[in-house]
Amino acid sequence: MLNLQVHKDEMTQEPRYDLHCHSTASDGVLPPAAVVARAHANGVTSLALTDHDGLSGLPEAKAEAEKLGLQLIPGTEISVEWNDHSVHIVGLQINPEDPTLVRGLDEIREGRANRAGRIAAELEKVGFVGILDKTMGYVGNPELVSRAHFARALVEMGACREVKQVFDRYLTPGKPGYVEHPWPSLEKALGWIRAAGGVAVIAHPGRYRMSNKELGKLFDAFRDLGGEAIEVASGSHTPEQIAHFGRQARHYAFMGSQGSDFHGPDESYVDLGRSLPLPEGVVPVWESWKNN
Ligand code: AMP
Ligand code: MN
Ligand code: MN
Ligand code: MN
Repeated sequence: MLNLQVHKDEMTQEPRYDLHCHSTASDGVLPPAAVVARAHANGVTSLALTDHDGLSGLPEAKAEAEKLGLQLIPGTEISVEWNDHSVHIVGLQINPEDPTLVRGLDEIREGRANRAGRIAAELEKVGFVGILDKTMGYVGNPELVSRAHFARALVEMGACREVKQVFDRYLTPGKPGYVEHPWPSLEKALGWIRAAGGVAVIAHPGRYRMSNKELGKLFDAFRDLGGEAIEVASGSHTPEQIAHFGRQARHYAFMGSQGSDFHGPDESYVDLGRSLPLPEGVVPVWESWKNN
């Protein structure tokens, strides 16, 4: 009996979910296969690769996941505009070949190329000559230039010691390297995720500079448009925020998601698979695809 139990424990690995992370296909620092291998080494059994506004890292991640016996959930993190805020919507279990989603994301990336030129021009004005070339040295996917890449180049050029300070001083609204940009609407992004058969999740709700009242309006709008889940246990949330958004998820009848938002070993809130668990009573978003 005892022997049987030991054998069973060895055979059954506790499931561990990380449903938000980035690779060099967007602004992460590790290639997709390395992200998957690191997640696996950290005990993750189901990983969603959710690169910003694109799907190009998924084939490599899927091949590595198959090699290691880990479940890869196809995902993406879509930049949208809502009420003059830039908000991120994660799409999980999407069909990466869906033409509506693919076309929508193509459009966002085209807009990003234009934005990168405008950010560079603003930073040149305050003395960072050659910033675009330096930034491109950090870019893994030329179609996806993110402020995170500018931040790394600005650190190299001596603007600040750390990426976080660069954001505060140069890359956030009102600062010299910030430019307005027309991201697609919440409605459009939810339409693409729906077309691709995925589940839409509001990413890291604790990170937006919104009052609780405004955040409540975002949740209402998202629910009215068919949104089904919010990221409760984000690596970027404090334990208090996790408890708070757990209560919010229950109040709005949203499922809860959990993910590290890992970007790289030296730049992340937490490592892959290391976000805190969902609070009691929150329905995990993976329940929606488990039985499919
Ligand atoms: P973008 O989508 O080009 O506007 O860039 C947003 C990305 O910049 C986010 O996905 C993060 O990777 C990074 N980021 C945004 N704000 C901060 C911050 N305060 N500190 C560090 N990284 C940040
Ligand atoms: Mn990012
Ligand atoms: Mn985000
Ligand atoms: Mn992210």
